[in-house]
Amino acid sequence: MRIFFLLIFLLNCFVNTVNAQSETIPDAKIDKLVKQAWEDFKYSNFEKSLITSRVALNYATASKNNDLIAKSYKIIAGNYNELSEFDKAIFFYNKSLYYAYKADNDSLKHNLYNNLGNVYCFEKKQFDKGINYYKKSIAYGLKINNVSHVYFTNLNIAWAYFDIGKFKEGYPYLKFIENNIEKYGDQSTEIVVNMLTGMYANYRNENDAANAYFLSAIKAGENGEEQSDLSYAHLEYSKFLTKIKKYKEAYEHLTAYNQITEELYNQEKLKKASIAGFNLELDEYKRQIDKIENEKISQYQSLKKSRIIVILFILVSLILLVLIITLIKNIRFKKQHNLELLKAKEIAEEASLLKTQFISTISHELRTPLYGVVGITNMLLEEHKELSHSKHLSSLKFSARYLLSLVNDILQINKIEENKVILENLTFNISDEITMIKNSLSFLSQKNNNKISVYIDADIPEYLIGDKLRLAQILMNLVSNALKFTKDGEVEIKVDLCKIEGKNYFLDFLIKDNGVGIASVDQGKIFEKFVQVGRKDEDYQGTGLGLSIVKRLLGLFGSTITLESDIGQGTSFSFMIPFEYDPQKTKKIIDEIEVDLTSNEVYKILIVEDNLINQLVTKKIIEKNNYVCKVVDDGFAALDIIEKESFDLILMDINMPLMNGFETTKRIRLKQIKTPIVALTAFDKDEITDEAISSGINDIIVKPFEPLKLFKIINYLIQEAENAG
Ligand code: ADP
Repeated sequence: MRIFFLLIFLLNCFVNTVNAQSETIPDAKIDKLVKQAWEDFKYSNFEKSLITSRVALNYATASKNNDLIAKSYKIIAGNYNELSEFDKAIFFYNKSLYYAYKADNDSLKHNLYNNLGNVYCFEKKQFDKGINYYKKSIAYGLKINNVSHVYFTNLNIAWAYFDIGKFKEGYPYLKFIENNIEKYGDQSTEIVVNMLTGMYANYRNENDAANAYFLSAIKAGENGEEQSDLSYAHLEYSKFLTKIKKYKEAYEHLTAYNQITEELYNQEKLKKASIAGFNLELDEYKRQIDKIENEKISQYQSLKKSRIIVILFILVSLILLVLIITLIKNIRFKKQHNLELLKAKEIAEEASLLKTQFISTISHELRTPLYGVVGITNMLLEEHKELSHSKHLSSLKFSARYLLSLVNDILQINKIEENKVILENLTFNISDEITMIKNSLSFLSQKNNNKISVYIDADIPEYLIGDKLRLAQILMNLVSNALKFTKDGEVEIKVDLCKIEGKNYFLDFLIKDNGVGIASVDQGKIFEKFVQVGRKDEDYQGTGLGLSIVKRLLGLFGSTITLESDIGQGTSFSFMIPFEYDPQKTKKIIDEIEVDLTSNEVYKILIVEDNLINQLVTKKIIEKNNYVCKVVDDGFAALDIIEKESFDLILMDINMPLMNGFETTKRIRLKQIKTPIVALTAFDKDEITDEAISSGINDIIVKPFEPLKLFKIINYLIQEAENAG
């Protein structure tokens, strides 16, 4: 008998059943099936045992109970072992071992290694491999401190060594058995232990002892049921007897061995015959088990896949969640940010509007009295010729003009910054423009004893189209600066034709002086607002706005200014502006302008003005031209008087108490009175144009104004009204 540990395994099953029962119901059911399979196996009911163990394996695999899987495989392997299908037995023992490792069941490992040792040593005759398994079995047996198990394995290993004549190697194991025989030896091992001891004594030539042990072995065998072991005892004893030359006894024992072996063989034959039919099914059975395995693998893989899918899903969800949260946060932040930006924009717009309103109010309020001051100064000078040499009066006139230019500069710079300036297209002669500038600055050139020299490229066409007023303003600023900062020197104004691109004639302007110059450290600053450098008390007063206006105006032309200067080296400013050259267009513009506006008729003008000084100034200007005029203080008075009298033209102030100029005009127009109305206002023209037109005003003149300009407009409008009428 090989000492298989199925019995021990059963005990294990009971122990585990306790655990299994306390677990899930399926596991308890599987455990029951395993036990059933074992029972069938024990009673050599291999077919039933195999079927039951397969069902058990199926369930165990489904419930992923590695321990029960290992046990099921072990019973299957045991069945194959008994049916002498050793390769399959080895295959399933190994499977069982794999799950025993997974379940970390050392007791199972110990049993399986022992059984594998048995198959390899005694069936496959691969002793080295088999002994190796035994040794592993012993190691696990000691680990779980199950000496009784180790006892049996030692027996097996000793027998295996003795079988191949390695008595020395096998002896320590036999020694262990002898030492523990009292404790663990039982009837079933008595034959084998005695036989092995006999064999060892034989090896050592202790013939008497050997003889005694062999006889004990045979005696134990004859009293028990272990026929197989008894047969081996007879065989070994026969070998011994042959050695000591007792041939007769040797023959008897060999015969006994043959007899028992034959009986056993017959029994085996019967057993094999009884399961012969089933044997055919064994392959199918193995296939079924393989299927279970494969299903398990595919299940595992699909589980793995679904796990991966779940993990991926969770990951993707998490990422999405993070993204959504970030998005929401971003949106919120942006919303908040946008709100803040909107608020800031509103505040900035409000501030800019306030600034614009402030500047326009201030300029209006300044221009109104300035109109009076300039007007009255002019009146005084005309009416009292003897005062024309009065220093005080010319100072007054100068101061008023200076104040006016300051107001205009501030207003203009503000308008450019607000992008409210649009260049106009007027036709002009560059030579005329420069001559006009030169003449108007003659006072300044005389004051500093400067000479102005003008050079204009002969290739420049006579008439060009462009914003001549802004060009004049630029030149005026630069030339007056040159004259201011040069003494006893020369100021040069030079215009060259640089290039022609289609209708565009690019003119290069150069304003050069040999005055004090500008230090290179200051050259960047001087274009900023209100910046003045190296200003001495006796200098002509300035606002520090001139160059910044020049720079901004040039920006409107799409041009930039270049400065070359150094202290004591004089200064030259240069820039380039394209003007259009189009003779046909020029002609059209000239035709439109050159209308004869002079008239010898005496027109009757109504002045609507609340400011008494301004009433006086305007009245004087009108009467000086031999026109008749009437003055009223407010809009209501105007409405009254036009009911009674007819006028050729009405000069209407805009900013008046009770009813402003726009409202008054509207009411006049409602009365179907078509008399031309000119707004005479201190407001900036651009600011009121829209409202003026919509209320029925024909034109606007900003105070203070050039009287000539006023009369030109008056004549033009009256003539136009007469033509229409
Ligand atoms: P302002 O109206 O006070 O003259 P500008 O903006 O026109 O102001 O000029 C700024 C400063 O640039 C002046 O104060 C002066 O110092 C310097 N500057 C301008 N033009 C000249 C020049 N041709 N020669 C010397 N310095 C000049």
